[in-house]
Amino acid sequence: MIVYLTGKRLKQTLVIVVFSMEKCELCGKKTAKTICIKCRRLICESCESPEAMLCKECYEFKRSLEDQRELVLNYIEKMLNVCSLKIQNQLCLRCNVLRELAISLYKMLRDLLEEANKELFEGILNRGKKIEKELKRLLVIILTVQGLSIAPEP
Ligand SMILES: [Zn+2]
Ligand SMILES: [Zn+2]
Repeated sequence: MIVYLTGKRLKQTLVIVVFSMEKCELCGKKTAKTICIKCRRLICESCESPEAMLCKECYEFKRSLEDQRELVLNYIEKMLNVCSLKIQNQLCLRCNVLRELAISLYKMLRDLLEEANKELFEGILNRGKKIEKELKRLLVIILTVQGLSIAPEP
């Protein structure tokens, strides 16, 4: 059977063929079977991770980064809840400190989502998009009351 391979898959296969007698660059014991798409090291079956084409170390790194981002997301969510309560007070609703806080939370969330999109942090993306909707709603309310200018006051 002839299998036609293109793009990434082909490159991957060529690398495997060329290095098929090489040792794993992680454990240095077993014969390498594939290559990690992140660090480009040759890895054996035992050094593979649950995630396809990532080595154990890159997988762990990805997980710990994702955990850290989860904490940032928790913070954004917590602050969003505080802001949502505060806007029920007319004085707070008209306060520019609250507005600046909501804007900075929104920027923080946008950065987080951009990275999550690139790194494929599924959990962050799903939760983040829901929070984004609520945060947008909050911003619209604040900006409508305070005037739509996002620029700081002179
Ligand atoms: Zn190995
Ligand atoms: Zn790796």
